[in-house]
Amino acid sequence: RLLTDDPAARHDRQSLLSPRETETQLHGLAGPRTELPDAVLTDLFDARVRRHPDAVAARHGARAWTYRELGARADRVARALLAAGSGAQDVAAVVMDRSLEWIATALGVLKAGAVYLPMGPDLPVDRIAAQLSAAGASFVLADPATRALAERAAAAVPAPPAVLCAREALAPLPPGDPADLRAPARVRPDDAAYVYFTSGSTGEPKGAVCEHAGLLNHLLAKAADMGLTADGATDGTDGAGPTSEVVAQTAPQGFDISLWQFAAPLLTGGATRIVSTDVLLDVDGFLDELAEGRVTVAQTVPAYLEVLVRHLERHPRDLGALRTVSVTGEVLAPDLVRRWFALCPDITLVNAYGATEVCDDTLHEVLDRAPAPGRPVPLGRPLPNVRAYVLDEHLALVPLGSAGEIAFSGVCVGRGYAHDEDRTRQVFVPDPFRAGTRMYRTGDFGRWLPDGRMEFLGRHDEQVKIRGFRIELGEIEHRLLAVPGVREAAVAVVGDAGVHRHLVAFFTTDDDATGPPVGHARDRLAAELPDYMVPSYLHPLRRLPRTANGKADKKALAELASTLG
Ligand code: ADP
Repeated sequence: RLLTDDPAARHDRQSLLSPRETETQLHGLAGPRTELPDAVLTDLFDARVRRHPDAVAARHGARAWTYRELGARADRVARALLAAGSGAQDVAAVVMDRSLEWIATALGVLKAGAVYLPMGPDLPVDRIAAQLSAAGASFVLADPATRALAERAAAAVPAPPAVLCAREALAPLPPGDPADLRAPARVRPDDAAYVYFTSGSTGEPKGAVCEHAGLLNHLLAKAADMGLTADGATDGTDGAGPTSEVVAQTAPQGFDISLWQFAAPLLTGGATRIVSTDVLLDVDGFLDELAEGRVTVAQTVPAYLEVLVRHLERHPRDLGALRTVSVTGEVLAPDLVRRWFALCPDITLVNAYGATEVCDDTLHEVLDRAPAPGRPVPLGRPLPNVRAYVLDEHLALVPLGSAGEIAFSGVCVGRGYAHDEDRTRQVFVPDPFRAGTRMYRTGDFGRWLPDGRMEFLGRHDEQVKIRGFRIELGEIEHRLLAVPGVREAAVAVVGDAGVHRHLVAFFTTDDDATGPPVGHARDRLAAELPDYMVPSYLHPLRRLPRTANGKADKKALAELASTLG
């Protein structure tokens, strides 16, 4: 590893900083401290159901459910799960397409005190099975369309989870049927709320587990920075009514981003609007839906923002009620921001930085104009109750303005990776500045700017982003090495950030093998990996270029790859 924890060395380094500077870094630059309600997300949602049951909570195409309808279904799902024997903190996977029913099911799982593990039905069945197994899932909730898939995946798990098709729980309500809002289970802020899987360099995806308090902290901060709290009610206690805020639900359900896109508006009296994947693929269709649906808030990744900007530059049009767009997952280029404000001077951009392991966003930069020429877009400042550190290889604070690894501490820090203590210990480490608490090491480099904002300086490992999807190149290499006949494998990224960025895989084969046909290797990868991890090109080589110290020469491969694409 690049960084090692050595308390003696840390102490020596740390003493180089003046007490005043240490104080500034540990306290002055931290996010504001706010009191979190002693409640979980579904408590605050229920409070909203009580307050304005007939306001629209969620829309999908022509369908809409009110808070009452969504709340009642979430309740029924929770009761069905409990009736099926779910104990507190059992992991309940949800394998469903994005739909109103999916949102009700997610809320139902949380209400039952179970741990929500969402997966899209477009994932290969083996990967669903691997995630069920790695998370130790006890249940899989499916709908009629995904039931067969869920059953196949469950059957492939050594200790198969029970498959529950929540059709009845999700069926239309009798008119006037009130939501049964007695909490079906007691859920505490320090209970685990969810597991999301991210790609892992050892070939196995990692399931990051986060708690309710961190989730709620993120939702409230997100709601505030995206302007969803116009009525001032984020704690579920005052008498405020519904708002006209509409958040586009665009992220795939296997990514933590999908959660705030429906949950933050539901805590603050707004509505979420599910935008189907086929609509997202058609830029004009997406822009139509934003305008017709009176969407006020949306989030996307830089690659998709670029597609939108390019389209709008050619076909300028009105974006309806849209007033804030959050951009996340990858570096937001200043030029893209400039082009955005040239087109939409009144629509705020929020550069949102975070990681699945720390409950999604930890830093926000709210932008109403492009950065000064030659300046990058900062990552901004820590969210409430989040502490950010910039550390050297001994986990000591570096002098203000110097580069180091970004780490986070506070309520945002997740529990670790499900049933994987080794990998948990590598990045969830004791916070050296606060005894008894833990911090998460992001693997990202950054530095503090003089105004207290963070600047992003890249990563130190082989994690990359393709269209916002997090990928460890090592995972793809591992899968390729498992194909019979493949001897060496290396994966390179080609193209600048943006839609043109893609993966190229190189491999060599055993001397005596005629070599697996490229198609065979591709089929294997496609059967095991999500679409976005399957390389666009697979290229057999006689020899893999190596650096002087024997590692695959990624630079040479990247150059080779760029000549192929
Ligand atoms: P999320 O929680 O937003 O889904 P992921 O877990 O997919 O995030 O990925 C986390 C990593 O993505 C970060 O460690 C960082 O490398 C990168 N990242 C996220 N947001 C940004 C951003 N705004 N700018 C630059 N890099 C980012």
